[in-house]
Amino acid sequence: MSWQARFADVPDVLKNEHRRGTVVPVLDLTIGGDEFVIIAGPCAVENEFQLMATAHRVRRAGARILRGGAFKPRSSPYSFQGLGREALQLLARARKETGLAIVTEVMAPEDVPLVAEYADILQIGSRSMENFALLEAAARSGRPMMLKRGLVATIEDLLRSAHFVLENGNENVILCERGIRTFDTTLRNTFDAAGIALLKQITHLPVIADPSHASGHRELVPELARIGLAAGADGLIVEVHPDPDNALSDGEQSLDFDAFDSMMSELAPWIELRHRQSARTKSSALRVMEAVG
Ligand code: PEP
Ligand code: MN
Repeated sequence: MSWQARFADVPDVLKNEHRRGTVVPVLDLTIGGDEFVIIAGPCAVENEFQLMATAHRVRRAGARILRGGAFKPRSSPYSFQGLGREALQLLARARKETGLAIVTEVMAPEDVPLVAEYADILQIGSRSMENFALLEAAARSGRPMMLKRGLVATIEDLLRSAHFVLENGNENVILCERGIRTFDTTLRNTFDAAGIALLKQITHLPVIADPSHASGHRELVPELARIGLAAGADGLIVEVHPDPDNALSDGEQSLDFDAFDSMMSELAPWIELRHRQSARTKSSALRVMEAVG
């Protein structure tokens, strides 16, 4: 069976001759275009120093977008739930100081207007991938959306949610592979690199890899980042914190500043290779088009 037939009920997200690759504009950059886009920042916005220091440092290392949760989906009511509006205001200040675009999660339909006022990209978390009321409200805000794959969502489930957003009038959807639950609980999740490769082959939507949530361990993040790039992702979202051991959430998987710098240096030749490869593919496509007239 062809992929077209397999995913016949989500036609809007599949590649076709008119839509080969969606390029999502975000401030002065694009996602899904030539640039391999690095999104970095803390799991949650905790305070002014933590966010500003991180923003400046990841920007210097080459990140283009700052991440940071203002509303956190926590499985325990006693865990840090996020600073809400105060975090959004800090994110806006960080954007002003650094020029980085902002991505942050929105968890409830009624929060969409507030979050959309501050964020350049609305993040839909794994636990919300099938919250269709939220997807609809976020789609209608007109902001680009990053849709994280659900913890137990198949590729088809992910595409169904993306299709739903497109059908609600928002074309600027970015998919995010962040690991899924499998029988193997050694790591926090199982990173589906083949899923990234498949998504890039069959959909026209940009795909971002999240090596932080996919592994749950900071020492594995640089390796998974490289694998995500090699699988064809359009960029990465990576958790970075000035003092990971004392982070209020996801410290075990967060890189400190030096580790983030090292990861970026190690990635540089791979990013360069990807760039040359895409220039080659483009110029051969151009030659074919010229030859056919
Ligand atoms: C996050 O990005 O911090 C987050 C909560 O991610 P996920 O929804 O993928 O678990
Ligand atoms: Mn996190």
